[in-house]
Amino acid sequence: MNREKIRKYDMVIVGGGVTGTALLYVLGKYTNLSSIALVEKYSDFAQVNSNNVNNSQTLHFGDIETNYSLEKALVVKEAAEMLERYLLKTQNSEGLIYKKSHKMVLAVGKTEVKDLEKRFEDFKNFYPKLKLLNKQDIEKVEPLVVKKRNAKEEIRALISEDGYIVDYKALSKSFVENVLKEEGKDINIFLNTRVNFIIKNNGGYVLKINNKILESKAVVFAAGAHSLLFAKSLGYGKQYFLLPVAGNFYAANQKLLNGKVYTMQKDKLPFAAVHGDPNIRNLNEVRFGPTAKVIPVLERKNIKTFREFFKTTKFDFKVMATLFKIISDRDILGFIAQNMIYDIPFLGKYFYMKTIKKIVPDLSLENLEFKKIAGGIRPQLADREKKELIMGVGEIVGDNIIFNITPSPGATACLQSAKSIARKLSKFFGKDFVFDEDGFKRDFLENK
Ligand SMILES: Cc1cc2nc3c(=O)[nH]c(=O)nc-3n(C[C@H](O)[C@H](O)[C@H](O)COP(=O)(O)OP(=O)(O)OC[C@H]3O[C@@H](n4cnc5c(N)ncnc54)[C@H](O)[C@@H]3O)c2cc1C
Repeated sequence: MNREKIRKYDMVIVGGGVTGTALLYVLGKYTNLSSIALVEKYSDFAQVNSNNVNNSQTLHFGDIETNYSLEKALVVKEAAEMLERYLLKTQNSEGLIYKKSHKMVLAVGKTEVKDLEKRFEDFKNFYPKLKLLNKQDIEKVEPLVVKKRNAKEEIRALISEDGYIVDYKALSKSFVENVLKEEGKDINIFLNTRVNFIIKNNGGYVLKINNKILESKAVVFAAGAHSLLFAKSLGYGKQYFLLPVAGNFYAANQKLLNGKVYTMQKDKLPFAAVHGDPNIRNLNEVRFGPTAKVIPVLERKNIKTFREFFKTTKFDFKVMATLFKIISDRDILGFIAQNMIYDIPFLGKYFYMKTIKKIVPDLSLENLEFKKIAGGIRPQLADREKKELIMGVGEIVGDNIIFNITPSPGATACLQSAKSIARKLSKFFGKDFVFDEDGFKRDFLENK
């Protein structure tokens, strides 16, 4: 080993998406760690799932996300409020990082309307700004949701005026820019730098990156699906396997919606049902989606990750039994079957159009430029021992090392995950480690 090429750090973060950059920001600003490196394999931050073209750009508060129970919604609410506070105090010239927008969930038909009204009763005390709208109210806010809708079709909606469209890539860059302003810290960013492998060494870790060696007392992998690959290479997370769920969007080049419009989803499913979202980079374009299809790669548009997928997921008896158990649930099976249909050439577009018409009834293939866009991949973790899906953020904690695998709403949860990781670091670094949790709370958890 060439000694000149060895760099030593207190902490190395692998992955420059929104999770890794938020963690860098929190550790740089609120802890006494003095030397931190962030390693990202691409030439810029947030090129994978945190890229604005790859996700739905929503700051999830849990109020209109009907796939969340009240309990889960309140955890998401706390995460969203932390990020909201960061957004509001951050320079947002020309709406680069966020734009304010209403968020609505639409109930169509008697059963959905009944469920929505019940949800409103259960949620209203926790979300005082949430309003229940009737057809006339909806028409004022989103005229095309009502136009040409069957008059007999009952609709109601829950709306929150306080929503945000977020460019999580711009947010990632802002975390990095802001933490680099901290004085007295040795923060190094390695772009275009892939971690090739990691080994344990003297209670810490040695990472091989390009032509350098990094030594670190502690490491956090915020590398999406790749976090599980590295966890397994060190013998952690053997009980887990991955279901990489790719999401496509269909985009209409017209200002069909003024804000975000979600549809109702079943709470057993980890992903939101189809929704329409104005694109933060072009508010005259509305993206509908995302679809959900399991594909055997760790990263979209990167076929090399096909082999890596099979390293994270070996189809042994326990994995097959888990998959069988998951899909034996009627709701999940129905969801998978429906999403498979959307991928059939030509026909898929037609069937998806029918789903989108639930939001905008007066939509037709002829009068719209309607294009399919490949989004990112939600790395959905499953447990082959417990034979179940892991809902929410996946985290594996080892000796002085943490692996974060975050499907949805991982971008919303970036500061919450960072806080949770910072808390765990006292176990790694002992009594000399300081996390200024009061300062963090003052900035992100107390009065707006
Ligand atoms: C279709 C879709 C819609 C979504 N919509 C929303 C939404 O509206 N709101 C929301 O909150 N969340 C949403 N999510 C989830 C959200 O996008 C992710 O949870 C979030 O972006 C994950 O961020 P991350 O930093 O953990 O991962 P990523 O953004 O994937 O970043 C991981 C980084 O690790 C790097 N990396 C990997 N391996 C290595 C290596 N060996 N060496 C160096 N670097 C490496 C990658 O290059 C990448 O930059 C959506 C996801 C999808 C797929």
